[in-house]
Amino acid sequence: MAIRKIVTQGDPLLNKKCRPVTDFNRRLHVLLDDMRDTLTEAQGAGLAAPQVGILRRAVVIDGGEDDILELVNPEILEQSGEQTGPEGCLSVPGKWGLVSRPNFVRVRAQDRYGEWFEVEGDELMARCFCHEIEHLDGHLYVEHIDHFLSDEELEAYLAGEEN
Ligand code: ZN
Repeated sequence: MAIRKIVTQGDPLLNKKCRPVTDFNRRLHVLLDDMRDTLTEAQGAGLAAPQVGILRRAVVIDGGEDDILELVNPEILEQSGEQTGPEGCLSVPGKWGLVSRPNFVRVRAQDRYGEWFEVEGDELMARCFCHEIEHLDGHLYVEHIDHFLSDEELEAYLAGEEN
């Protein structure tokens, strides 16, 4: 297992459409293991393969309580509601912007052995699913914002959420 370098905004790899994973082999397992380590090290909410320079449809998401979800070839089956909140990205370090997302999504994906499963999430989890899956089509959250939040705006937003 290893920490991989996270590519940042401006690198053309982040704007490419990723190809489906077709081989559920050792190479994929090493990639997923490395992505888990890289996500944990960076203390992020999620990480998509193109962020470590691999143009394949795979993401890892922090599921809370030391649980990391692996989604291979994920697709959104269903979504509902809306939420708006601050969003950041490991490929856009130190910046935040307000993004509206569905408040609930249901996702279908394969595990590292190729077995299909479904997972659903709301609020932060739903936001994370949408953000990571978007990476696989070469899109970044910054496409949805009109400006990056200033420190004051971010603080005000986070303080408001606690009330
Ligand atoms: Zn991201």
